[in-house]
Amino acid sequence: MSTAIRSTRHATADGRPLHDRVAVVTGSTSGIGLGVARALAGAGAAVVLNGFGGGADIETVRQEIAETNGVAVDYVPGDLGRPEAATDLVERALAAHGRVDILVNNAGIQHVAPIERFPPERWDAVLALNLSAAFHATRAVLPGMKARGWGRIVNVASAHGLIASPFKAAYVAAKHGLVGLTKVTALETAEQGITCNAVCPGYVWTPLVERQIDDQARAHGIAREQVIRDVLLAKQPNKRFATVEELGALTAFLCGPGAASITGTALPVDGGWTAQ
Ligand code: NAD
Repeated sequence: MSTAIRSTRHATADGRPLHDRVAVVTGSTSGIGLGVARALAGAGAAVVLNGFGGGADIETVRQEIAETNGVAVDYVPGDLGRPEAATDLVERALAAHGRVDILVNNAGIQHVAPIERFPPERWDAVLALNLSAAFHATRAVLPGMKARGWGRIVNVASAHGLIASPFKAAYVAAKHGLVGLTKVTALETAEQGITCNAVCPGYVWTPLVERQIDDQARAHGIAREQVIRDVLLAKQPNKRFATVEELGALTAFLCGPGAASITGTALPVDGGWTAQ
């Protein structure tokens, strides 16, 4: 594992709800994770970023979030598809900040194919990142959260953690599993000031969705525009993609004082998809 890019701390003494909290957000160099990292930093938390990407781009984002919000922002690389990488990420955050108060298990990948043509190695990769990495990271943060009597874990699941679609066997299985892990984590920590919730987005406009459009077009044998209209937003009654800012705001709320009694839930953010 390569070394973490340096931390920049800007002291603040304001009343922001997550002031002095330390947050680890997996898969936060892009999309929802980056939106969540920005929202948590905006609420006053120090943030540890993780994910893939160009070093210079990540350093630019890291500095921008730190300077805009006056908080420490670190970047710890690591392929969370490897079990030891999730544990290592938490250990590096603990070494840098002394504690992890907030864990957002967000890193995820997708593979779209019918089951009989689903490559077993893609099944393993999707399960490893979308489900097992959350287990390994949760396992690593819980002792400290329990010792301090405070913690927030937000698992970025999906509407596909609640319902299924064809051609997404690994993703749907992993996200249903992540909702199950969320409930168990919530029950095991309920008396210790810790909450654990899953957020279940429908379609959010991010690079992951952009990539799926081509995969879905191949699987269904239709054009990109038709995938957007008839496959993706066909199931989302409000006919709009959610934004990473909306996911960030919800996650910051779940980590704040107003959500102290919300635990073990799987919150749809899907424009009514799962209400049908
Ligand atoms: P994205 O592709 O924009 O971002 C994924 C992030 O995960 C990136 O930072 C990437 O570098 C990181 N990542 C990928 N593989 C990794 C690995 N092996 N180790 C560490 N980091 C890794 O995707 P997104 O759309 O922002 O999705 C984020 C999460 O939200 C995923 O769990 C996804 O399943 C979930 N989700 C997304 C949508 C959507 O419509 N975009 C809907 C429901 C759920």
